[in-house]
Amino acid sequence: MFFSDIVGQDKIKSHLLGLVKENRVPHALLLAGSPGSGKLPLALAFAQYLMCQNPRENEPCGTCSACNKVSKLIHPDLHFVYPSKAGKEKVDSPDDAKADGQEDLLAIWRKMVLGNPYLDETDWLDAIDMRNKQSVISVATASEVIRKLNLKSYESDCKVMIVWMAERMNQQAANKLLKLIEEPPAKTYFIMVSENPNLIIKTILSRTQQIYVPPLSSSSIAIALTEKLGISPDRARDISRVANGSYRQALNLLNQSTSKYFEQYRNLMRLCYAKQYPNLIDWVDDISRLDREEQKDFLNYSLRLTRDSLMLNLSLENLSYLMGDEAEFGKKFSPFLGMANVNQVARAFTHAYECIAQNGNPQITFASMIFQLAKLIGPSGNA
Ligand SMILES: [Zn+2]
Repeated sequence: MFFSDIVGQDKIKSHLLGLVKENRVPHALLLAGSPGSGKLPLALAFAQYLMCQNPRENEPCGTCSACNKVSKLIHPDLHFVYPSKAGKEKVDSPDDAKADGQEDLLAIWRKMVLGNPYLDETDWLDAIDMRNKQSVISVATASEVIRKLNLKSYESDCKVMIVWMAERMNQQAANKLLKLIEEPPAKTYFIMVSENPNLIIKTILSRTQQIYVPPLSSSSIAIALTEKLGISPDRARDISRVANGSYRQALNLLNQSTSKYFEQYRNLMRLCYAKQYPNLIDWVDDISRLDREEQKDFLNYSLRLTRDSLMLNLSLENLSYLMGDEAEFGKKFSPFLGMANVNQVARAFTHAYECIAQNGNPQITFASMIFQLAKLIGPSGNA
């Protein structure tokens, strides 16, 4: 990874390069900040710069064998630690690691990071089937780190260990790593990445140089979307405005900017406005054919759009998260969703959601919902 691949964060990039130029790279570095700000990409670019055989002034060369291997995350002197299932507490040999599924994890890790280095913990836990489960950096992982770092370097004159989500280290793992950080093997660099450094034990923090990585500015996100992904400046601006300083969030929004439920919502609102009851009955038939989870998703989506249209009605555009077609429709439709009726409209969606969640009959539920909505929305409604 090159520094130029990373969105924004110019100050942090020059700070990291400055550490190398002034020959004061600390043994332990912590990049801390909110999700999607680019901590892991910065760690990767910095690792590549440290390991490159022929670094240029502000970038690794990109062509030496170290660069080649680091960019594929397969350099034998570049190690990764990440949260996973709390498993066997002892991994002594690579064979044990294999048996413990560590090798599989590493393959998933490489694929995920190469696909999107802006991944967050949820993406990772989904990929390893650990969502909603307790994940840790366990003492077994820490022991494995120590074993690897005590080996002599294979190919590079330095070794780099990236500890991702360092706050997930449990007490024993942290204590093990602490020893290593206190007396690091020569030319060994720890780069820790954390969203919540307060959860890391103080003794590690006190031996670590901390760098705060701020959320991205919306202009950096917009420029990256346009330059890297060819997104039109208007759409890039819309997305960056609601991405909350996170490039990962921006990429997510890009992929799902118009929900598959948008057409259904728009039809529903138009038909209610026009009181076209025969068409509304057809609409009920259509939505009743979806499965129950999809019906619930649709109702949640409708609630969100209704809320955001109200924000537009109140000219609180900054509080609306609508983009593209949704925003256009929301603006046109917002005059019909005001303080006078929005609560009742929201209640109609919520009530339908509860009925569907409790296995109510979809035909009856949605039919009752459209009659309420048709009364509430439109020229003769309460708006
Ligand atoms: Zn190189």
